[in-house]
Amino acid sequence: TSKSLNQDTIAAIATAPGRGGIGVIRISGGDALRIARHICAREMQPRLASFCRFRDPRAEDQVIDEGLVLYFPGPNSFTGEDVIELQGHGGPVILDQLLQAVIHLGARMARPGEFSERAFLNDKIDLAQAEAIADLIEANSEQAARNAVHSLQGAFSERINELVDALTHLRIYVEAAIDFPEEEIDFLADGKVATDLDAITQRLQKVFAEAKQGAIMREGMQVVIAGRPNAGKSSLLNALSGRDTAIVTDIAGTTRDIMREHIHLDGMPLHIADTAGLRDAPDKVEQIGIERAWQEIHQADRILLVVDASEAESLNPEKIWPAFTEQLPDSSRLTVVLNKIDLTDYSAGLQAHTDSVPVIGISAATGAGLDTLKTHLKNCMGFTGGTEGTFSARRRHIEALQEASDHLHNGSHQLHEMGAGELLAEDLRRAQQALGEITGEMTADDLLGKIFSSFCIGK
Ligand code: GDP
Ligand code: ZN
Repeated sequence: TSKSLNQDTIAAIATAPGRGGIGVIRISGGDALRIARHICAREMQPRLASFCRFRDPRAEDQVIDEGLVLYFPGPNSFTGEDVIELQGHGGPVILDQLLQAVIHLGARMARPGEFSERAFLNDKIDLAQAEAIADLIEANSEQAARNAVHSLQGAFSERINELVDALTHLRIYVEAAIDFPEEEIDFLADGKVATDLDAITQRLQKVFAEAKQGAIMREGMQVVIAGRPNAGKSSLLNALSGRDTAIVTDIAGTTRDIMREHIHLDGMPLHIADTAGLRDAPDKVEQIGIERAWQEIHQADRILLVVDASEAESLNPEKIWPAFTEQLPDSSRLTVVLNKIDLTDYSAGLQAHTDSVPVIGISAATGAGLDTLKTHLKNCMGFTGGTEGTFSARRRHIEALQEASDHLHNGSHQLHEMGAGELLAEDLRRAQQALGEITGEMTADDLLGKIFSSFCIGK
């Protein structure tokens, strides 16, 4: 990746749209100070707030607003460049006028995430930290926010950098052994390489496990409720969310559209969707809902197949609903939820059940079995719950860690089974590269662009 310095000056409204007590315009770049001097008609002290009138250079210096100006000289600023903050009143018209004045004086509108991008390009933060800023702003649980702060402070990056350092040392050692065989470092015979490789692998697994928890807490779990009409899907959605969102009736096929709920299980966001009554021979209108339902089902982390306990002669999903299981080639994400156990004693059937698909008996009406179901969902995700010191991580990070782990595994195989030093060195290099993608050391420009453009404006 090429870390290039931007020369132009960018500006954006940094506060949320709408009205508020104050609103902030942020300016970054070589012209920031000149622009601020023009608008404020005064000198600024670094890192001290000065009160002033904001003048409009487009309208004979008519006053737009009054407020505070703050000046953070580069390189000791968020972006590493000269940064100015104009703090005025938080009205959309005022802020827009102020931004237009700044643009008129030579700045350009910042793209989404461009302030963070410059902070990254100027080595003020690494990529994982930049992502943590976005995650912090978007956090919708206390735990997710705590995790994001940890990552922002470098907890995640530090662990990654330690691993990269350890890999670098090992690589140098292995490569030296390959390049200078006359020095007779037999790295297979001397146990150092194997020992170091094991230690690095173990450390990686630990970071991996923690990152997974962080990613689960950030992104949550997608659960789809499916089942025949009247099985109690909507009732289950309501029972889980504790709200009357879905329409519950005893007419089969009431839920035409997909109902959604977002709840938390000990800090794990649960995104639940109640699918339209999937039926074997639907009419035209139902067909649309059914297609959407299948989309949901294919994307879900877990599918809850709700079955009316009184109608369940068998607990084998293939017997319960052949058409459904036909469309779902892989039953590893499936859980059978036997509902209405308040009406039927299902325990005999449950004991007879030997299939690999888990079965959980509940009553959406009385709430019986719901705690078991919730625990089951957490277990399915491998969510251990509220771990202290966890950092925020994204799917992207998990994939990179997985890749690094695969290369270490492969490298170990090359070493022990093939005695192939060159191939081990190559695997170490690739593992290092995968880890470098997390902190942005090794990230391709187009991926960087994609990551930053998903941030909001002014950040
Ligand atoms: P859906 O079509 O699968 O969404 O089913 P609904 O949630 O609309 O429920 C169908 C009917 O079964 C309604 O009359 C519910 O009140 C009833 N029902 C749902 N769950 C239970 C339960 O656990 N026990 C009893 N006794 N009735 C239930
Ligand atoms: Zn329903």
